[in-house]
Parts: sequence; C-alpha cells; structure tokens
Amino acid sequence: MSNSQDTIAAVATPPGRGAIAIVRISGNDAASIARTVTGTEPVERQAKLCRFRGSDGTEVDQGLMLFFPEPRSFTGEDVVELHGHGGTIVSETLLAAVIECGARAAEPGEFALRAFLNDKLDLAQAEAIADLIDSGSQAAARAALRSLEGRFSDQVDALQSELTTIRVHAEAWLDFPDEELDLDDIAALGERLEAAARQLDRLLADARQGAILRAGLSVVIAGPPNAGKSSLLNRLAGYDAAIVTPVPGTTRDPLKEHISLDGLPINLVDTAGLRESADPIEIEGMRRSHAAVEKADCLLWVIDINADFDEAVAEVHGRLGETGTNATIVQNKVDLTDHGPGVSDLDGIAVIRLSALTGDGLELLIEHLKALAGYAGDSGGTVSARTRHVDALVRVKANLAKAREQLGETATFELAAEELRTAQTALGEITGEVTSDELLGEIFSSFCIGK
Ligand code: GDP
Repeated sequence: MSNSQDTIAAVATPPGRGAIAIVRISGNDAASIARTVTGTEPVERQAKLCRFRGSDGTEVDQGLMLFFPEPRSFTGEDVVELHGHGGTIVSETLLAAVIECGARAAEPGEFALRAFLNDKLDLAQAEAIADLIDSGSQAAARAALRSLEGRFSDQVDALQSELTTIRVHAEAWLDFPDEELDLDDIAALGERLEAAARQLDRLLADARQGAILRAGLSVVIAGPPNAGKSSLLNRLAGYDAAIVTPVPGTTRDPLKEHISLDGLPINLVDTAGLRESADPIEIEGMRRSHAAVEKADCLLWVIDINADFDEAVAEVHGRLGETGTNATIVQNKVDLTDHGPGVSDLDGIAVIRLSALTGDGLELLIEHLKALAGYAGDSGGTVSARTRHVDALVRVKANLAKAREQLGETATFELAAEELRTAQTALGEITGEVTSDELLGEIFSSFCIGK
C-alpha cells in the first residue's frame, strides 16, 4: 500500500445527490490544507462554517469544517472533515481543490488501514467496519457493531493471554529439567488448558454464527409458471417485515432480492418469468439463471402440489447436474388438498408441503433454510466474523487438543509449548498482530474509498 507519510483525501459519502457530502483529509498536512481551502484556522473539535475555495481562489462551495488533531481521531493522524453540499460535481470539485493544495487521493480502505497501523483498532475491528457497512440484516449489523466495539477481539485477547500463562509454565519446566516435577502441578496445568479449550469452543461457535450472518444464504427460487413462486417470495419477504430490495437488471435477467429470516440474510435469485424459448435474449436469461443455480447454496424448486411430482424430481436433477447445490422441492398450494403442511426427504432432496397463500407450513421452510445455513438464531451475543477468523480458530482448536495430549500422557513440555506457540500465532492473525502485507492489502482494498 502507498506511502503512509502522504496526506490523503477522499469523498467519504456515497456518490450521487444528497443533503451533504463529506471530504475527509488525514495526515500531517491536513490542517494546513484545510487552512488554505477555507482561508481560516481549523478549531479543534469545533464545527466552523466556512467558504471552500480552489487554489486559484474560486469559491467551490460552503459548509462546515471539523478538525480532529492527532492522536484523537479515527486514523490517529490529524483529520479534517469538510462538509459541503451533496452533489457529485460539487463534492468532486471540493476534493480536487484539496488535492491541488497538497493531498493525495486515498486508496480504498486507506483511512481504516492507517487507523489499524496507528493502533486505533485491530484487524478484526477494521474488518467489522466493512461488515457493518455491508451487513445484510439487522442481526448481522448488530453482530458487526459488537465486533467493532471489540467484543470479538477481547475474547481472542483473553484466550491469547491465558495461553501465554500456560506456555510460560510449560516452558519453565523445560528450562529447569532437574526440578522435581509435581504431578499435581501438571494436572492443574492440564485442567487450565481444558478450560481454555472450552473458552475457544464458545468463541468458535460465536464466530461461526457471525460468519454465517455475514455471508447469508443464497437461494435460487425456480419452477414452472403459476406454481406460486412470486407468492412464496412475497410471503417470505413479508414474514420478517424485511426490507425487500428488488434489483432489476434487464427485463429477462433473474431478479435479486435481499430478505432476512430471523436475522439470517438471504440473497434470493428469483428466476420467475424465465422460460425455455428460442428468443436469444431469453436464452441468455436462462443461461444466467442456470449459472445462478450453480453459485447458489440452495435451489428451491416450487411446484403446484397437484402437479406431477416425478417430473419435478427429474427437473431438479437436470438443473443441478454435478453441482453441490442443495435442492429443496416446495409443493405449494397445500390448501387445495386434504394434506397438512409437512417435511419429508427424498434421496437427499428435502420436500416441503406448504401454502404460500395461507402461510401454512411457511415456518417449516424457514427452519429448513436456517438449518441449511447452520444458523442458530440471533442469540444477542453473536459477533461478526469472517471465514479467515473461523479457519484460524479451527487451527487453534487442533493445536490445543495436541498440546493437551502431550501434556497429559507423556508430559512432553517441548512439544506442548510448540503447539501453544503455533496456536498463539493463529490467534494473532485474527487481530492482526501477525499478518502479511498481502493479507492487509487484500482486506483493506475491499473497503470503499473514503473508509
Ligand atoms: P408464479 O408464476 O410461480 O410466480 O406463481 P404466482 O405466485 O403468480 O401464483 C400463480 C397463481 O397461484 C396465483 O393466482 C396465486 O394466487 C395462486 N397461488 C399461489 N400460491 C398459492 C397457494 O398456496 N394456494 C392457492 N390456492 N393458490 C396459490
């Protein structure tokens, strides 16, 4: 990433029309650049109404200036925010004026990277900012906020310091091999290690839920016309009073909708309206819907309960091909029959009978989708986490199990200490104590510009 000596600037608000747009500046020259642009002295932590001018003196906009001197700022450096009017041209012109006065355009995530490098937050907290911004449900947003506030990192740090204590004991025995070994002491250390492993298990369970909340579940909804796909979608969307955000592409594209079921974000791809045809645009639409099935976690194949079931099974097999996508057949319109709602299993394909019209059996589908994702519901304690965190914790779990074995059976302290050291390195990867530049680059470059 670029030179951290530069003073950087970016528009921190989203592009487009809005009441205000904020240009954020961070670095040693932030205050002097702000002075040049506004013609007035920035005052620490006070909003000051100013005129903003380009380097040739032309007035660009007017608005508020805020100044946060280092180290009490987001990045830990001098930070100035210029709050102007929210229009693309006006905010870009103001940014250009700031750059003319000596700042450099910031790269994506560069403000957060500086905050990390200046110890204002650790890596898991920095990632939580991005997760909060991108969260797909209120539960996911709450989990991200908990991680941002340090709840996840605190637990990692607590485990880290407990492992340090255990390791110090094991290494002390290593360093003084002539000392008489007290078996009670070894047993006590073993128990401590077991307690740490239990602590880790709880953290791992929380992190797994967090990773599920972050990723959500992608579901493709498909089936013959008039089976009730749109009705089912509306039911699901209405269930959680979810915010439904249709994202139309071309008219023949599959629709993408984001809903939340008990807090689990679901990315629904709705292929309703797509049918086999000779029309090139419809063929392209079908190709995209097949591609969506391949990428999805689950294909929901909706049929009328009175339609031919074997045909539906054949269709589902045909569409899934070799993919690992889970398939579920929804037999809709159960209200038109004497059957009640229910769930059954047919060679690995779940079959759910329900009525999108009355809502009967909808909870069976919701529970099924939650189980598919491995989602246990918003416990109020879930922290946001990423796959890389879960992977690191899984490695720590294996290290602790081996260390316990070595301590218990043969009392080989050297190997136990080595396992603990490896476990600590893995924990350090989560909070960023141990990281490579590539990993940092990968994490921060996925942030938005201005963050
Ligand atoms: P799509 O073409 O698969 O999206 O199907 P729609 O959702 O548009 O539904 C087709 C028709 O079936 C509409 O008249 C719906 O009111 C009706 N329908 C949908 N679900 C049910 C159901 O569970 N029971 C009954 N009786 N009718 C339903």
